[in-house]
Amino acid sequence: MTTRPFTTTDGGAPAPSDERSLTVGPDGPILLQDHYLIEQMANFNRERIPERQPHAKGAGAFGIFEVTNDVSRYTRAAVFQPGVKTDMLARFSTVAGERGSPDTWRDPRGFALKFYTSEGNFDLVGNNTPIFFMRDPMKFQHFIRSQKRLARNNLRDHNMQWDFWTLSPESAHQVTWLMGDRGIPKTWRHMNGYGSHTYSWINADGEIFWVKYHFKTDQGIEFLTQEEADRLAGEDADYHTRDLYEAIEGGQYPSWTLKVQIMPFEEAKTYRFNPFDLTKVWPHGDYPLIDVGTMTLNRNVEDYHTEMEQAAFEPNNLVPGTGLSPDKMLLARGFSYADAHRARLGVNYKQIPVNSPRVEVHSYSKDGAMRIQNVKDPVYAPNSYGGPVADESRAAEVRWMSDGEMVRSAYTLHAEDDDWGQAGTLVREVLDDAARERLANNIIGHVSNGVKEPVLSRVFEYWRNVDADLGKKVEEGVRARLNHTNGV
Ligand code: NDP
Repeated sequence: MTTRPFTTTDGGAPAPSDERSLTVGPDGPILLQDHYLIEQMANFNRERIPERQPHAKGAGAFGIFEVTNDVSRYTRAAVFQPGVKTDMLARFSTVAGERGSPDTWRDPRGFALKFYTSEGNFDLVGNNTPIFFMRDPMKFQHFIRSQKRLARNNLRDHNMQWDFWTLSPESAHQVTWLMGDRGIPKTWRHMNGYGSHTYSWINADGEIFWVKYHFKTDQGIEFLTQEEADRLAGEDADYHTRDLYEAIEGGQYPSWTLKVQIMPFEEAKTYRFNPFDLTKVWPHGDYPLIDVGTMTLNRNVEDYHTEMEQAAFEPNNLVPGTGLSPDKMLLARGFSYADAHRARLGVNYKQIPVNSPRVEVHSYSKDGAMRIQNVKDPVYAPNSYGGPVADESRAAEVRWMSDGEMVRSAYTLHAEDDDWGQAGTLVREVLDDAARERLANNIIGHVSNGVKEPVLSRVFEYWRNVDADLGKKVEEGVRARLNHTNGV
């Protein structure tokens, strides 16, 4: 006697067979009334949903965030008060690759976090880099297209990548970072995560601070060389996905220490770098790291589709005591992430359990495809019938000042707002000789693989602008490789 449950139809009734369709005689035609066969075929045809554009390939896990320090003088957010523990979800990803692409391609890694706080969901949709390729959202779409595939043959193309980068000098800091060791982490456990943007924190007295989030890996930073990564891309395209899953299954729970940099509100105006420019860091010497707490991932998802593919992270998920900033890229993401989820998952995506807050929702949103929670009257505000009312203390949380005419411009108001300076600092002051050598070789290998004039000359100029020695090395190295290939 079996104890296994019956297979059922999606309607819950016992299914007639797992193996045989209904026919007229053993070789006869299949019958339309085999509705179970039809249900199987029809549902299979609809299994895939649109993949993310970008960050399509990724995985993650559930965990817990625990506050170990007192930062209450900077933020009133419940999630950051001393001793508070909050359930959370993390998703790591590559940027340019499609859903089945290798985990070990050279690319920034997404580092997306969702905290199920007692005041609603708080999301930080970061990367494993403290900076990004651009500072204006007008360029983002073009950037991603340039990193993906050519129209005519659907191939990725280094010439297209370098064409965009060299025509966008503000990319230099991030491209330097990407071509260095940290451009291919050994595993997701061995990389840092950064909020990257500048955000705001608001304390109980209503004071605003600018904040940058740094999640430092407790496993230590480790990387793959280009050769190791290329080999793994062929041997195990899911190398990082597997590593995280197996580590957690084996009880080796990875953790990260959250540290923040805090800038007093008034200092933003006169700081030497534009503090809202996503291509720049705030040097630690100017704004030291302050401990906040620890995030530990300790539970794998049970169903990748429902809990990871449908997980929707969005920087507009902000709780009291946290906010955005005048960073143009961040402001644009505050719209575009939620919009992407509406397009991929449908307007009621926040009712999918992985995206649902752990607090009661009292919004006035109503109806739409796939709504599963009942809406109650009154369905409008203001009303005289006891409907929810807004928390006006939150209106006071955004008090930035701006004046002047409407412009389309890059920033020029801060003393050190050039495109090359911080990239040069990274090369000359952070990297050691061996890391500089690997950086040059990674650039040479990448550029020698398909970059053509007029882009090629701009590549040499680009690296000379970052650092004269590095530029020289790159030009010599690339010319030697190309001459070799051309039989010179
Ligand atoms: P610091 O000496 O105070 O900090 C250097 C930072 O560089 C550390 O955070 C370190 O991270 C990180 N780092 C070390 N090796 C690499 C590498 N191969 N690729 C990328 N980052 C690396 O200097 P500053 O704060 O003045 O910053 C100098 C430069 O360091 C910046 O221009 C930026 O490129 C880079 N950087 C700065 C960060 C910041 O927030 N200030 C954060 C990360 C990088 P870790 O301690 O984890 O090893």
